[in-house]
Amino acid sequence: SREIRLKSRPVGLPTADNFELASVTVPAPGPGEVQVKNLWMTVDPYMRGRMMDRESYVPPFQIGEALQGGAVGEVVASNAEGLKVGDLVSTMFGWREAFNAPAGAVQKLDTHGLPPQAFLGVAGMPGLTAYVGLIKIAALKPGDVVFVSAAAGAVGSVVCQIAKLKGHTVIGSAGGADKVAFLKQIGVDHVIDYKAEKDLTAALQRAAPQGIDVYFENVGGEHLEAALNVAKPFARFALCGMISQYNATEAPKGPSNIILAVGKSLKLEGFIVSNHFDMAPAYLKELSGWIQSGKFHWKETVENGVENAPKAFLKLFSGENMGKMLVKLG
Ligand code: NDP
Repeated sequence: SREIRLKSRPVGLPTADNFELASVTVPAPGPGEVQVKNLWMTVDPYMRGRMMDRESYVPPFQIGEALQGGAVGEVVASNAEGLKVGDLVSTMFGWREAFNAPAGAVQKLDTHGLPPQAFLGVAGMPGLTAYVGLIKIAALKPGDVVFVSAAAGAVGSVVCQIAKLKGHTVIGSAGGADKVAFLKQIGVDHVIDYKAEKDLTAALQRAAPQGIDVYFENVGGEHLEAALNVAKPFARFALCGMISQYNATEAPKGPSNIILAVGKSLKLEGFIVSNHFDMAPAYLKELSGWIQSGKFHWKETVENGVENAPKAFLKLFSGENMGKMLVKLG
């Protein structure tokens, strides 16, 4: 079985050299263990943070060890009660083709008729992130005009659709014509191709002449400054991520206009989805209704083979993914 290990800690934008492909032998599972063959794994922006040796809400990856992350797989051998060969399971043992794990470290997956990889995207962590950020952190209320950055990504495209399904005006920002077309197709009212705009504030002002009530922040930098400029008084910002800073080698420039948060009485609140897993049942219930009604769409960008997992990861930073970036294994 093959796995991807962290070879060295990236400085700035990671490169293929920071990763290495290794082969391991996976023995028969021990007592209470299952052996799992992974079918899909996810690459997510937060993994960049785990490649740094620093204290954070998740511990750093270790050099010479397999990386970790979400995966769905199939049980191929079992010494554990309640898990049998053929069961689908969800785990945090991504970045590898196969592994043994104690039953407590795998979660049996009931797909409810969805493709299993949906549980790494729309029906998994990124989808729930969108829901938590909008419903709980931004406390979406009728009439809100919602602005979303990285709108064509895994989290952003779900944010756009939840807000649309709840009757809001939605403005999405993303890079490139294909992403613009996708966002229009899923009903986003105004799409900003930020790579084609010299002045993001002016573009946002055109899209939201009365201002924005909610900003779902995925990017940071100029996007945050534009949102501060165009925010209505008492607007709420759900700070989900700031991917434009993840590869920074020096302290990023602060939002130069943060003072606007004072005069406009803005509320800026960060959040980490893992502190809100209690909202998963409510989200999955709403999501399944939307999917059944045919009103919910999602895209996946897929790389094949564990050897291409680093490439998939790097694509998050060049924006080469539309919707959820995934790696298909086996
Ligand atoms: P995406 O699927 O959105 O992929 C990342 C996208 O970010 C790219 O496709 C690209 O889109 C955009 N991007 C990359 N670099 C830059 C840049 N320098 N400037 C502007 N845009 C850039 O990833 P996710 O949906 O998984 O994650 C989106 C955000 O949500 C991230 O910030 C992530 O850290 C955060 N997150 C936070 C969680 C939490 O618990 N708080 C949980 C999950 C995700 P484009 O081509 O449009 O530039």
